[in-house]
Formats: sequence, C-alpha cells, structure tokens
Amino acid sequence: MKLSGEVLAGQQGYGIDPQVVEALARQIKEVTELGVQVGVVVGGGNIWRGQIGSAQGMDRATADYMGMLATVINALALQDALEKLGVETRVQTAVEMRQVAEPFIRRRAIRHLEKGRVVIFGAGIGSPYFTTDTTAALRAAEIEAEIMFKGTSADGVYSEDPRQNPAAHRFSHITYLDVLQQGLRVLDSTAVSLCMENRIPILVFQLLQPGNIRRAVMGEPIGTLITVD
Ligand code: UDP
Repeated sequence: MKLSGEVLAGQQGYGIDPQVVEALARQIKEVTELGVQVGVVVGGGNIWRGQIGSAQGMDRATADYMGMLATVINALALQDALEKLGVETRVQTAVEMRQVAEPFIRRRAIRHLEKGRVVIFGAGIGSPYFTTDTTAALRAAEIEAEIMFKGTSADGVYSEDPRQNPAAHRFSHITYLDVLQQGLRVLDSTAVSLCMENRIPILVFQLLQPGNIRRAVMGEPIGTLITVD
C-alpha cells in the first residue's frame, strides 16, 4: 500500500496529524486481523519534496535525500501508531540507519509479512530522482504482492481534476495504457509502467474513509481499478 505524505498531514496540510495516523493504523489493523499481509510504502510530501528544494536552487540529489529522510519520519509515526494498537511492525529503510530501523532486505521483509508483521518501507528506493509511488510499485513486485493500493484524498481516478471541472468522470476501471496515454496524474508514470510490466493491479481509492482499506481488501467496488485490459 502506498500511503502519501499528504494524507498524514490531515487538514493542517503540513507535518503529521496524530489523529489521522491513528485512524489509518486502525484501518490497517482491521485488515491484518483478516489475515492479510500488509506492506506499506510511505511518502514524505507532508514534510519535504525534492522538487521544491531543487526549484529553489538546491542540488536536486541533496533535496531528494532530504525527501527520503522525511519518509522515514512518517514511517516511524505509523509504526508508533500501529504498535500502540498491538500490531507488530518492522520499518525497513532503503538508506541504512541501523539505530532507527532495519535496512531493506527483501527476503527478510517477506519473512516478516509471513509472520503477520506489517512492514513499513521508508526512504523510498534509496536513490534520488525517484518517487515513493515508484517505490511502492517496486516493493510490490519484489514481495510478490497481489495488488498495489494507492490511497488518496480523491475517491478514484477522474478524467480531469474534479475540483476544477465538476463534470469530470470517475473511472471504476481503466487500463495502465489509458492512464499513461491520457496523462492522468494519479500515480507517476514510472510506477504505472512498472506495475504494467509486472501485471500488478493498482487500486486507487479514498483512504481516510473509515473501513475503506477493508472494503478494498474484500473486493468491494470502491475507487478505480487499474489493470492490463
Ligand atoms: N524520494 C527520492 N527517491 C525515492 C523516493 C522519494 O528521492 O525513491 C524523495 C523525493 O524528493 C520526493 C520525496 O522523497 O519528493 C518524498 O516522496 P514523495 O514525493 O513520493 O512523497 P508523497 O508525494 O507520496 O508524499
């Protein structure tokens, strides 16, 4: 599951809203109790985005490393909220910081998942010029996930930005190619391509609606499903 940093900021638009994190942790707990293995890739846009620093004249790679560190802050917040609810977790980071979290080791991540632990992946893929959407697609492929969830503030993929055009149409189902060709800005194109190549379906849905992660897991028709045909 890709969890964008913006979601964690809640109404305040910046930083971490503990109530939002707790509500999310409750939703994740609910699905782990169904026996579902959950890996979470957290974003960092609520704290820092590389592009912002680079637009202001910073070295892009440095600004991106700052973004990766921001994702680790979010990962720890989510870990704390989940463990307070009694859910076992492990944070694995793509940039080593052993005092804080395990390094990302694919086989170990899979083992944790098999033991019912929620694995939270921090620091993106560990390289600048990438996003956490792409990280989520990559980790999904690596852990052989059945599906990638992209939780957003909107309730699916729209033909246009519904805030700008109220007549915008919401897709219940769309292909990877249509997302790419129509330039629908729901996930970055590298992430979509990676999922397309590896046949990993993507479900885009509204995250902060209580019970939505469970609905998504149970196959209820929420959000937009992105598949090959
Ligand atoms: N980032 C990066 N490499 C990665 C993942 C993330 O350089 O593999 C940096 C990048 O600067 C990005 C920031 O971390 O802007 C935060 O990630 P992202 O924008 O994907 O977070 P989200 O929008 O999901 O909150």
